[in-house]
Amino acid sequence: MDLYEYQGKQLFGRFGIPVSEGRQATTPEEARAAAEELGGQVVVKAQVLTGGRGKAGGIKLADDPDDAEEKASQILGLDIRGHVVRTLWVERASEIAKEYYLSITFDRSAKQPLFMFTTQGGIEIEEVAEQDPAALVRLHVDPLEGFQPWHARRLVYGAAVADPGEQQQVAAIVGRLYDAFVGTDAMLCEINPLIVTPEGEVKALDSKFTVDDNALYKHPEIAAMRDLRADDPLEALAREKDVTYVKLDGEVGILGNGAGLVMSTLDVIALVGGRPANFCDLGGGGDAEGVVDALDVILRDEQVRSIFFNIFGGITRCDEVARGILAALERMTIEQPIVVRLDGTNAEEGRRVLADAAPEGLYVEATMLDGARRAVELADG
Ligand code: GDP
Ligand code: MN
Repeated sequence: MDLYEYQGKQLFGRFGIPVSEGRQATTPEEARAAAEELGGQVVVKAQVLTGGRGKAGGIKLADDPDDAEEKASQILGLDIRGHVVRTLWVERASEIAKEYYLSITFDRSAKQPLFMFTTQGGIEIEEVAEQDPAALVRLHVDPLEGFQPWHARRLVYGAAVADPGEQQQVAAIVGRLYDAFVGTDAMLCEINPLIVTPEGEVKALDSKFTVDDNALYKHPEIAAMRDLRADDPLEALAREKDVTYVKLDGEVGILGNGAGLVMSTLDVIALVGGRPANFCDLGGGGDAEGVVDALDVILRDEQVRSIFFNIFGGITRCDEVARGILAALERMTIEQPIVVRLDGTNAEEGRRVLADAAPEGLYVEATMLDGARRAVELADG
């Protein structure tokens, strides 16, 4: 789950990472009131779950409450790469002497958290990594050893932060960021830019914060931060129906049982020249209810031209899934052709059940490859 900047900063604040004081606003009037309360120059910031807001006109300085109201009305409603601005964060403006970058994320191949730090902040970190890789300090933390003060020193000295006051503040922030990362079961905590003010104060001017969905049950206060309006409507519907679904860009709707099998199915569709429309895992169930729910979500995507059911019966029996599919077809009208491949426990019986009923537009294939070919062919046809 991705958090908005202001939510991430709220968590930063809780872990002792310095941030600027600010207020949320959803109307120009609220932005004016926020600026009045904060006093002085403020920055009005679009709250959207995407980066690069600055370049897209989603971040503007305002000199006084009038100006804040004006800037807010310019930013509200803006479409930033498909994300409509509905919420603003108005915070006391900072003077910036330097912009650094600090993040912690998981390095899956190393199976360890990874810190990245550079004094060349403010721009996309990918750019730094490409143009000046030596300037980007990377450091893993052994999760069994946990965070140790030397980690912070290695980052700070590795990036050649010269000022002792800065060294000390950055090192403290590094430790707190690790606490925030572990304490919230985060997958990414990024501060870009981490600024140094002309007075030498170091603080987080932005936040990018992603929390592991699977750990949200431990953090109800973070789970409550989810903005349902910002979710992809299909994925929101899927969550509601307890269907494991991820929307993709293609035309072949995919339904399988087991995440590994579904991922392989996506690959096989690509292999035979098609494009999967989604990832969808039926999980252990294959009853009519589960199939109807999954099909309901998959078919709301107007790009879907054919559907490929790829079922491997283990504990789930293929004949049960076959009956589930038939029951679902009775309950809903589906225009797109459906290809079914059943293998494993009771596959033959499952295929017989489907062959006996022989509903229109349903094709049974014996292998995953044949099924994928057929589904792609039908999507193209
Ligand atoms: P992003 O573009 O989505 O990454 O949004 P950021 O919060 O990182 O802001 C982008 C840029 O706006 C920063 O790198 C700063 O240059 C500028 N900015 C943001 N807040 C302030 C502020 O309080 N004062 C000043 N002077 N500039 C700011
Ligand atoms: Mn930023």
